[in-house]
Amino acid sequence: MLIVMEAGAKPEQIEAVVRHVERMGFKAHPIPGAHRTAIGITGGRQGSADPEVLENYPGVKEVIRVSHAYKLVSREAKPDDTVVSVGGVDVGANGIVVVGGPCAVETLDQTRAIAEGIKNGGGQLFRGGAYKPRTSPYSFQGLGEKGLEILARVREEFDLPIVTEAIDNECLPLVEQYADCIQIGARNMQNFSLLKAAGRARKPVLLKRGMSATLEELLLSAEYIMAEGNYNVILCERGVRTFADHTRNTLDLSIVPAIKRISHLPVLVDPSHGTGKRNKVAPMSRASIAVGADGVLIEVHHKPEEALSDGPQAILPEVFAQIVRECDAIAQVVGRSLQPALAAS
Ligand code: PEP
Ligand code: MN
Repeated sequence: MLIVMEAGAKPEQIEAVVRHVERMGFKAHPIPGAHRTAIGITGGRQGSADPEVLENYPGVKEVIRVSHAYKLVSREAKPDDTVVSVGGVDVGANGIVVVGGPCAVETLDQTRAIAEGIKNGGGQLFRGGAYKPRTSPYSFQGLGEKGLEILARVREEFDLPIVTEAIDNECLPLVEQYADCIQIGARNMQNFSLLKAAGRARKPVLLKRGMSATLEELLLSAEYIMAEGNYNVILCERGVRTFADHTRNTLDLSIVPAIKRISHLPVLVDPSHGTGKRNKVAPMSRASIAVGADGVLIEVHHKPEEALSDGPQAILPEVFAQIVRECDAIAQVVGRSLQPALAAS
């Protein structure tokens, strides 16, 4: 259920409704929007909050029964787009963002070399895994906390906020401490205990679509995070499994306008994992911006042939710079622009 407040509802009126909802044994989620506040109700025994009582509270415009399973992620709860600040870089605003960096943090020198390319190339955010979910237990698993320390150094040096993955509940507190944005990867999209823990974290979450997840499943996973009180969620399309074998995954760009229709959350696209082939990263980046993505997340390596993971999809820093320029050009066509990077201090 969703309680929509009048545009001019006073804070104390909102507070009174929240108190009523909580007295009834539910959790209330006030969601301020550009024009009005909505209050989402979760938990408790669904259906037993009495809409007629709520409708009579001063300042309440209407009470909507939400027919689908997700609530807080939906545009009914919040008609205007959510903008998530990642270390001062807005994701979901008019300015698109380009996130770049290696699949995995390998060494300080490697990470610095790539970060320099991302900053000079016009990227706004830096990515890199310190904890890597690998298909084989014998593959490079990431540097762990040492990798997080490297990321923190690179953030200071280049003024690039960092996005890095938490692969389990164990590493989440450390990742939360170091990162500007906690990534939850495709393999963990339905790791519900990790989603709930990320929902209690105080950093934004980048939630990647599972490799066979439907749109509704993706939104419900985001709902898990938001239901715990963390409303700073960014969704990411990264390709799904199909019969096609010319690419690693099939990048499902049609999910971008589909999400935008029903959810207010920002959406990024990852054309690197989405294709697995470096020669397809530029065209699919351009296409991502054309279909309305709020930005792209790209794997970059200065020596892709030496990369410890995902070398075949890594592009060189100079190609990254060209992609940033092209995304900017496409953004202009759809009435947007490239967001300037944070000024170096
Ligand atoms: C990654 O971004 O490094 C990653 C492992 O991606 P995904 O979870 O989409 O496979
Ligand atoms: Mn990767």
